[in-house]
Amino acid sequence: MNLEERALRGMHMPKAYHNKLIKAVMQFGLIQDSDKVLVGFSGGKDSAFLMYALKCLKDHFTLDFELGSVTVDIGFEAPLDEPGITAFAERVGVPHSFVRTRAYETIKERSEESPCAWCSYFRRACVNSFAKENGYNKVAYAHHMDDAVETLLMNMLYSGKGGTFLPRTELSRSGVTVIRPLIYFSEKEVQRSLRFMGFDPIPNPCPFERDTCRAKVKELIKSLDMENRMVRRNLEAVVKAGLKEQVVSEGAIW
Ligand code: SF4
Repeated sequence: MNLEERALRGMHMPKAYHNKLIKAVMQFGLIQDSDKVLVGFSGGKDSAFLMYALKCLKDHFTLDFELGSVTVDIGFEAPLDEPGITAFAERVGVPHSFVRTRAYETIKERSEESPCAWCSYFRRACVNSFAKENGYNKVAYAHHMDDAVETLLMNMLYSGKGGTFLPRTELSRSGVTVIRPLIYFSEKEVQRSLRFMGFDPIPNPCPFERDTCRAKVKELIKSLDMENRMVRRNLEAVVKAGLKEQVVSEGAIW
């Protein structure tokens, strides 16, 4: 049986992937029994893997929680592949909804060089509102270690601040808790998960996708790392030192 057939027959992940996921969930207290967790699913590889991984956790680990997913359609001129998104959510067995918006009209009116800050804020607000309205107490985002490193550098270069996002953040206004269970995964590991998930990422219809600050910082890290292999490792060490301060429970399962 090839990997795609295995993925279609039953949800599975390599043991090393399970261990990384469980490590983050337990260390940072990300999911508890009776939680209702909403995944923000864009159709890309990261959020597809997050949804798949949390479904594996739900099916094979001793946590009793509910899982759902939502996709925010920004209303770009090229349409979102809704059937592709729905098909993946159905195959994984996670209830899914769309929030349809006309945010692209606002993006055009604002005519900023990079609309990403506003767009990201808007999408997060939509997901948080959906969570609140539908009884979800946690929202899971698919940020991994490479994202954390890029955010660290972006904050330093563009905002004059240190630090990156946290694996768990309580939002006082909405009462929702944001969790990032993929924090110990590298982007390469997420990329490799496409094989055992049997999934082709849904193309992002956003016309700005290749010209973002994040894309520039990603390229910068890549080129510096090619000159000196310690660059990425050093940045990761800074992120990991920050993560150590967030640990709430050191379990013995990994
Ligand atoms: S790349 Fe496009 S979809 Fe993503 S945050 Fe920027 S504007 Fe929004």
